[in-house]
Amino acid sequence: MAEWDYEVFWREILNQMRLELEEQEYSIWFNSLEYLKAGENTITISVPSSFYRDQVRLRYQNRIETILKELTGKELTVFFEVIPRKRGEPGPAQTEETGKISPEWPEPGSNNRQTPKTPEKKARHPQLREDYTFDKYVIGENNSFAVNAAIAISRNPGTAYNPFLIYGGVGLGKTHLMQAIGNYIHESSDTKIIYITAENFLNEFVQAISENKTNTFKNKFRYTDVLLIDDIHFFQDKPGVQEELFHTFNTLMDSKRQLAFTCDRPVSELKKISERLMSRFEQCLKVDLQPPKYETRCAILKSTLEGQGVLVPDEVIDLIGKNVSTNVRDLISALNKLIAYTKLMGQPITLENTQQQLRDVFASPRQANMSIDNIQRVVAEYFSLTPNDLKGKKRTQNIVFPRQLAMYIAHEITEYSTTELGQAFGGRDHTTVMHSCQKIEDQIRSDPTLDSTIEILKRMIKEYSAKS
Ligand code: ADP
Ligand code: MG
Repeated sequence: MAEWDYEVFWREILNQMRLELEEQEYSIWFNSLEYLKAGENTITISVPSSFYRDQVRLRYQNRIETILKELTGKELTVFFEVIPRKRGEPGPAQTEETGKISPEWPEPGSNNRQTPKTPEKKARHPQLREDYTFDKYVIGENNSFAVNAAIAISRNPGTAYNPFLIYGGVGLGKTHLMQAIGNYIHESSDTKIIYITAENFLNEFVQAISENKTNTFKNKFRYTDVLLIDDIHFFQDKPGVQEELFHTFNTLMDSKRQLAFTCDRPVSELKKISERLMSRFEQCLKVDLQPPKYETRCAILKSTLEGQGVLVPDEVIDLIGKNVSTNVRDLISALNKLIAYTKLMGQPITLENTQQQLRDVFASPRQANMSIDNIQRVVAEYFSLTPNDLKGKKRTQNIVFPRQLAMYIAHEITEYSTTELGQAFGGRDHTTVMHSCQKIEDQIRSDPTLDSTIEILKRMIKEYSAKS
């Protein structure tokens, strides 16, 4: 079949994908792809970097091949060939190499009003980590929606997705993603940006009061263009600072400034936050970060290795990727532990010394320690109850639901039988446990947010068990 036929199909694929995807997502991934050539049963598309290649493969290859089959009636395989883009200016050659999303991408067709005008690098923002950029943030199915929204915000702060809130468990990349927004805006404009943890916001507030400088404090936070506050769950049970934040929030929103927050749980699970501040948080566009799946974990490991000059065999990446599934922080620290050891010993990294060095990490003491007791403690605390409430006889709704949830989680993450679980929950019958699990499953189907609450609780239980 002649080559031009295939190009027609490629155009049709682009049309189809444009219909299936959000504009933002389409332009990020598909604007950078170009038809290259075809063989009898293959079609080759150029991608600007190996990062793009891996991501596009992961996300769209199956879909593209399915559409191709529908169009041609043939099983065609799509190949992606890396052809770094030529640029007029010297530009970030490294970025092209590593293939991360740099603020300049994607260019064709995107009306990016904030493309940096000067090639020289700006001084870094004092409160932001230089390496917390989009460039270094690996995208997987666990975070793609959050990342796309964050990129959109970075391009046009204070417009579409405002206020913005990122939530998810510890070590899943909330701080990195939020700071990436800050870094991007900082690099591409002279916008005033403040990044602060909730804890430091409180500290500065308390200090301002004690020094009679509350006006200075108010002016600082109410006259910024972008305000990023990390870990807002810290504001729970702190009414004074909540009041202050409420007013800051209103002033900034009224003047169309960008607000973004992170939180370790869904907003609806926050306790002891004033009603009116809660309603403000509820107003946010909320995106959650889930733990990455195996493929993304491997991509993160590879990305962490880039530029380090350390040779790590693929089978070692695979081993770590398979065994460390808790969160990104644990994943990266396992890799760093291995690198540190082999450097110290002057040894190459092999499957054997990986297995040996990361034995403890892989053996997952977290899993082993996961007692029913720990589950009860964590779930009870999360709902401001005591473990005895969960084991007791009271049947008020505020206790019944957490009790059922604790049983459901225990059933999912431990090997105990329903009879044993019933025993551990105050001597209940095994049918009660089964009924509870069924109830929660039904609720998950009708309330999709429950799933992420459960994920968060599971992670908290793991964290707690690792420490105990
Ligand atoms: P959180 O604030 O949710 O606890 P962090 O943002 O501190 O998590 O992330 C923990 C570590 O994992 C950081 O070193 C961060 O750079 C890294 N990290 C998290 N998500 C990603 C990702 N998608 N790609 C690359 N690195 C990531
Ligand atoms: Mg954080």
